[in-house]
Amino acid sequence: MDYQKIINEVSEEIKTIPQEGSVADYIPELAKINPNQFALHVQSLENKCYSFGDINQKFSIQSISKVFALTKAYMIHSGKLWTRVGVEPSGNPFNSLVQLEYENGIPRNPFINAGALVIIDILCDTLENPKQELLDFIRKLAGNEDIHFNKKVAESEKRTGFKNAAQINLMKSFGNIKNDINEVLDVYYYLCSIEMSVVDLSKSFMIFVNHGILMSDNTRIMNSSKTKRVNALMQTCGFYDEAGEFSFKVGLPGKSGVGGGIVAVHPEKYAVAVWSPPLNKKGNSYLGMKALEMLTTKTELSIF
Ligand code: GLN
Repeated sequence: MDYQKIINEVSEEIKTIPQEGSVADYIPELAKINPNQFALHVQSLENKCYSFGDINQKFSIQSISKVFALTKAYMIHSGKLWTRVGVEPSGNPFNSLVQLEYENGIPRNPFINAGALVIIDILCDTLENPKQELLDFIRKLAGNEDIHFNKKVAESEKRTGFKNAAQINLMKSFGNIKNDINEVLDVYYYLCSIEMSVVDLSKSFMIFVNHGILMSDNTRIMNSSKTKRVNALMQTCGFYDEAGEFSFKVGLPGKSGVGGGIVAVHPEKYAVAVWSPPLNKKGNSYLGMKALEMLTTKTELSIF
């Protein structure tokens, strides 16, 4: 498969698509981003890379961080997690409150905001220094020490995150948040504000391509069964109320963030990260989704 040739074609075609959508302005600090940046990077299991665009430019990973938080918690807690958070698609926006009340404060899945808050609550119980340990974990997966959080973005979210505050308070009232809500929110915003490039992201998702094994030193991060389950959750819940559309058009497990990044994995083949800040109405990168659809259509390879 000549991935670079296909990626070159994608890069030419993507330029002809008029940009739609807008950057995530509900987080004031993210509204400042230049919308015209674009990057795509494929990391293969044979350790080959194919790319185009601003591939070393770091951006806010936002909800992509929910995959790292879940992985860290799942490594420690196994089946215990699933009494506190479900594994069903929500069919609702990432910050929706509606299901939470009638489902007794148990979020549908770990990839909506409420679900990630529960996962972080669990990590706050388990880890001595959750922020540092999560950052170290991400650096290890990406094989890059030069990954940091953005204080301005984290503070901007904290100032305006009224819906997240509402969700965590509601869950606390049902007894599904054990720690102080401000402590959990603080770790949540820290994690969302971590900045990575498409190269960092595709490398860090290689464990989901490689049955839970880190490529750089062949150590096992998670067993195959857990890796399968995280991939299944990315497939069914990674794009909120657009998870069906992403499966239909792209056909790979993946996760998006409102910073405009998307990472998708083809188990046993490659991880691909794409970045274009303007988002569609569901909060997923408009051109990012188009580029991934082109990639799996042109390669005629997806998990289906
Ligand atoms: N930090 C964002 C929020 O809490 C994450 C949302 C996302 O990337 N979908 O709203």
